[in-house]
Amino acid sequence: MAIKRRSFLKLTGLTLLGSTISGIVGNLLTRGEVKAKGYTLPPEALVGKRWAMVIDVKKCKEARATCGTKCIEVCHALHNVPSISDKKREIKWIWEDTFEHAFPEQAEKYLEEFFHGTPFLLLCNQCDNPPCVRVCPTRATFKREDGIVMMDFHRCIGCRFCMAACPFGARSFNWFDPRPYIKKVNPEYPTRMKGVVEKCLFCYERLAQGKIPACVEACPEKALIFGDLADENSEVSKILKERVAIRRKAELGTRPSVFYLIG
Ligand code: SF4
Repeated sequence: MAIKRRSFLKLTGLTLLGSTISGIVGNLLTRGEVKAKGYTLPPEALVGKRWAMVIDVKKCKEARATCGTKCIEVCHALHNVPSISDKKREIKWIWEDTFEHAFPEQAEKYLEEFFHGTPFLLLCNQCDNPPCVRVCPTRATFKREDGIVMMDFHRCIGCRFCMAACPFGARSFNWFDPRPYIKKVNPEYPTRMKGVVEKCLFCYERLAQGKIPACVEACPEKALIFGDLADENSEVSKILKERVAIRRKAELGTRPSVFYLIG
């Protein structure tokens, strides 16, 4: 977390119009706050009302033979995610798992056989009704107006209530200083420290620069699609109207913004 607040603003493309930045917490403002505080986003920034991701499971499986897990590698390298081999201590923003682990409530003999050997990419679902946000005592995690469930690493006190509340195991805790485990530090993104929770943030910093999430961009088969669910003409909206998609643990009512195309 060596990046200073002014650098944060630069990183996310925010421009200061007012005369002060005191009281501003890094780059983690909601769009309403950005406007209210006198900041502007650059014209190239991608603006949405409910960002969502659609993962084409079949395409992802087919692509895996050639791409390996490029989406994971690119994401973790860009965001300074450490490589820790101990499964109980590992940090992950995007990872893969089996159908029966990703969708335990839907796992039954025929579906399990059908999806046998199919990797399911998992990440924070950017839930529309996020239980992790409700339990955070410091508002270190909060939902932006565009639906992204954010983490303010500076505010996190490491209570891990959010981890207990998340039914998807989408959050990781830094049990020790992660920095020695980062293969090559990206100086343009903050590193974290011991005692802080982290997770995927839907590449909010890239959206502010007019770029789509890194994992989506990295996929050679375009198995990942990103867009605004609130826009009925967006690619994600159109594809969800035409194809069969499922969401993880939909019965819990968290309303995930990550969809899996299965038909
Ligand atoms: Fe929160 Fe977990 Fe939903 Fe992400 S997947 S928004 S961490 S409850």
